[in-house]
Amino acid sequence: MARREFKAESKRLLELMINSVYTHKEIFLRELISNASDAIDKIYYQALTDPDINFEQDKYQIKIILNKEQRTLTVSDTGIGMTEEELDNNLGVIAQSGSWDLKQSIDKKEGHEIIGQFGVGFYSAFMVADTVTVITRALGSEQAYKWESQGADGYTIEPWEKDTVGTDVILKLRENTEDENYDEFLDQYRIKALIKKYSDFIRYPIKMDLTKQRLKEGSKDEYEEYTEEDIINSMVPLWKKNKNELTPADYENFYRENRYGFDKPLKYIHIHAEGLTSYNALLFIPEQMPYDFYTKEYEKGLALYASGVLIMEKCSDLLPDYFSFVKGMVDSEDLSLNISREMLQHDRQLKLIAQNIKNKIKNELENLLKNDRETYEKFFQTFGRQLKFGVYSEFGIHKDELQDLLLFYSSHEKKLVTLAEYVGRMQADQKYIYYAAGDSVDRIEKMPQTELLRDKGYEILYFTEDIDEFAIKMLLSYQEKEFKSISSADLDLTEETAENRDQAAEEKLFAFMKDVLGDKVSAVRASKRLKNHPVCLANAGEVSIEMEKILSAMPHNQQIKAEKVLEINPNHEVFQSLLTAYEDDQEKLKLFTKLLFNQALLIEGLPLEDPVEFTNNVCSLMK
Ligand code: ADP
Repeated sequence: MARREFKAESKRLLELMINSVYTHKEIFLRELISNASDAIDKIYYQALTDPDINFEQDKYQIKIILNKEQRTLTVSDTGIGMTEEELDNNLGVIAQSGSWDLKQSIDKKEGHEIIGQFGVGFYSAFMVADTVTVITRALGSEQAYKWESQGADGYTIEPWEKDTVGTDVILKLRENTEDENYDEFLDQYRIKALIKKYSDFIRYPIKMDLTKQRLKEGSKDEYEEYTEEDIINSMVPLWKKNKNELTPADYENFYRENRYGFDKPLKYIHIHAEGLTSYNALLFIPEQMPYDFYTKEYEKGLALYASGVLIMEKCSDLLPDYFSFVKGMVDSEDLSLNISREMLQHDRQLKLIAQNIKNKIKNELENLLKNDRETYEKFFQTFGRQLKFGVYSEFGIHKDELQDLLLFYSSHEKKLVTLAEYVGRMQADQKYIYYAAGDSVDRIEKMPQTELLRDKGYEILYFTEDIDEFAIKMLLSYQEKEFKSISSADLDLTEETAENRDQAAEEKLFAFMKDVLGDKVSAVRASKRLKNHPVCLANAGEVSIEMEKILSAMPHNQQIKAEKVLEINPNHEVFQSLLTAYEDDQEKLKLFTKLLFNQALLIEGLPLEDPVEFTNNVCSLMK
């Protein structure tokens, strides 16, 4: 019988398990029981659609068998079992569903955290066992197989005999060492307690032989021991339990058991809904972004149960895209059990549930924002981008629902503010909600365009994410206040500064400069927004300079350019030099014009068309 090799990543994970110094090794039991329960779910689900399978509820169970002499702990189930091929595929490779980023290097410490926070399925058995044996017979097959492994060296598979369909996972527990005691996993009371702690909600009976005492026959005070099989879990799924019976730890356990994330949930939502549709749901907002959140591997959705039977692991119709970070499950008795996936999409009940869930999530987020700002901000730092996408997507049809959940960094208190907070403290003479877009808060703070607004005491929202401006363009206004970019050409500041200036001379100068720059700019003009800086770019038209940057970084970019206006500060010394050059030396004015334009580009963080020419021009001034 040939020894087979584990796939590379699995081998790494296994080594990690074997050498684990992790103190909560007990979680292996939760993992194995959860696999057993999944295997029964699968048979149950097949029985719904296949009349040849007869699912008799009371035949399905998970049994724990302890054998002190042989130092074995067995988890035995009457689930769907595995064929030889499935054994090879499922146990030879780390499960895809265990969200484990294998491209990341795994060092001991990191691995330690992953085991702790996440659980890693079947392989966790190797934390406590030196040999793991799986004897399994698949539904519809007469032939059983035995899979066996002593660790990272590989595993064997051979034909075996088994009377019934299902799987036995047999752990040969390690010998005790100075630091580690494995005997505890042979102790029935300890195992019973562990099952209560982690697996109480498993929907199938978990049975174990328990030693009990009874009065000896005919005696009044003499006891004898006897053994009796008992069910040791309550079998009521967590979501059906009353909220006030449950502790945060119960929810956290559920989160881990279902592998929703490496982290703890930031917030959980437990819904018992009755009325038009009745359902129970457990929803979680993760604390950290799933590592694959922005990859195409990430699947949004909630697990869907009909009357306690899992019918779909990720039902994407239950969540709008902007809440795609929400994890969890829904169980409804109003859904037909043998509904097909295609039918589900059009199911009226499902639509009602989805609508309801969306509202609940939104309300919870609003409450969080109102009552626990710190946690909300933490949430927003992680998933706010998704809400902004929600505002922008589908031509803005969700914007009214989402606008009050948005936060932006603001110039006032240098922290995140809501739009309502902004509008609430606008100056009496302030018409617009001002915003500035740039790569970072620091960079925006230094933008010359912010000078005058800041002088007037107007608050400015700082947009540092590429989606921000797109989302705002979709919103257009908030509480009837329009948004305005501080770089927009029609800033509409009622500041009259041109009294003592020679309008005619200025016009000739600007026309000349515009000629020099050609279609790089749509106009050159005197700025009303600059105070100390000589020059800046303003924006006419729909596409802003930030948007130009973002669009040009996209694949297949269509060379969409912002319409730029070069603004010169008429109160700056440089302006005098320009006027003088216009009269005395127009070659020099050409040079100045190009330099100023390039400076304005640099300030905006835009690339220079010809950096060599620019430096040559600077040098020619220095000569
Ligand atoms: P996960 O449960 O996250 O998929 P595991 O490593 O725990 O990862 O298990 C890998 C796969 O092995 C499972 O997806 C399942 O297909 C199969 N498996 C594990 N235990 C059992 C079992 N008791 N009965 C049937 N299949 C099982």
